[in-house]
Parts: sequence; C-alpha cells; structure tokens
Amino acid sequence: MHNNISKNITQIEQEIGNTQLVVVSKYRSLEELNEVYATGHRNFGENRVQELVDKYTQLPKDINWHVIGHLQTNKVKYIASFVHLIHSIDSLKLLKEVNKQAKKCDRVIPFLFQMHIADEETKFGLNKDELLAILESPVYREMANVKCKGLMGMATNTDDEKQVAEEFQSLNTLFEKHKTGLGWDTLSMGMSGDYLLAVANGSTLIRVGSKIFN
Ligand SMILES: *Cc1c(COP(=O)(O)O)cnc(C)c1O
Repeated sequence: MHNNISKNITQIEQEIGNTQLVVVSKYRSLEELNEVYATGHRNFGENRVQELVDKYTQLPKDINWHVIGHLQTNKVKYIASFVHLIHSIDSLKLLKEVNKQAKKCDRVIPFLFQMHIADEETKFGLNKDELLAILESPVYREMANVKCKGLMGMATNTDDEKQVAEEFQSLNTLFEKHKTGLGWDTLSMGMSGDYLLAVANGSTLIRVGSKIFN
C-alpha cells in the first residue's frame, strides 16, 4: 500500500548524515506507523495528546514518543509517564506542570524550549528575553524532574531560502551560546520543506512527516 515509506526514510537518512530523524506520524494510521516501525525506526512525533495516547497504547512499547506541537497544561498528565522528549515548552507555567507530573511518575522528563523564530504571528514560542528570564528564575532552577536538552524552532513557511536560513542560523547561534554551559545536545529544527537548510545550519534533529508518507 505505502511502498514509498521505507524508500523515503532511507533517502532522507542518506541526506542528513548524523542528524537524528523524528518521523512525524500525526494523522497517520497504525498501519502506516507499523510500516515505519518495521524499518527499524523508533522515534515518532505527534502534536495532539489524545492521538498520541491512542497510538502509544496500541503500538510497541519501545517507541520513543516526541511531543512536537503546542501542549496544553491540562493534558500533561496523560503523557507524563512515557513521553520521551517534549519539544514545545513555551512557558514557565507549562514547565511547572510538566515538573509536577514527572515527579508523580518518579521520573525526569527531557524537554526543549520552543523558540519563536518565524516571521509569522501564529507560531508559538519564546523570544530570547523570555528564554533568559526562565533560565534565570529561581523556580526553574529548583525543578528536579525536568531536564532541558536544547531548543526547537519552526522557520517561516516561505520559498525564500535566504530568510529561512537566517532564521535557522539565529536559533543555532542561541543554541551554541548556551549548550556547553547548560549541557544541551539537541537543536530540533527542519521539516519536510526545509530540513536540508536546517541541517546545513546546525540542526541535530529534524521532524519530518509529509515527505515520508506522501
Ligand atoms: C507537522 C509538524 C512537522 C512535520 O511537518 P511536515 O511538513 O509534514 O514534515 C514538524 N514539526 C511540527 C511542530 C509539526 O507540527
């Protein structure tokens, strides 16, 4: 049925070298996810909690589930016990809830701060000042059940490659500035339309959906 899935994954992996691939499986059927699983892939990304929980329940337990979309505070409790990496932390309030639910599960949840880099109003994310304010806040420093691994960002949806490259570069600069001091290792940027530009500009992890399944 979907003979291209494995071919598409192989092609993308050859293009991106050591960069990690998270297969964005939102809206895709269990059959399609099983096909990805059969290729050996274990990192899947979802952006809606209900769909994520449904798929987690029905698929093998060695899958690493990434939350890549906007996360509502009241939904954190449904994913806290198993989520592998939350890419979309964009407020201290949300992070407090993640820390609280992680503590209940007796675990540490890895996460990324989502930064606003696009020239679009609709995308979620922090600006640099908001990031620094969180990093410096005593409340944040006392959180024992969350661990920041780096940053995530989405570039503007445009054909202007120069603009997209500049947005990725600015995020990479911020990442490089803090990574050694804060022990960061993950820069999540790049999707189907722009992952090559993202990799060229320092991405360590790309999130690709449509290019794999279409
Ligand atoms: C849907 C989505 C992706 C994947 O987008 P494609 O263009 O299908 O590759 C990546 N990141 C986020 C946050 C998404 O919501």
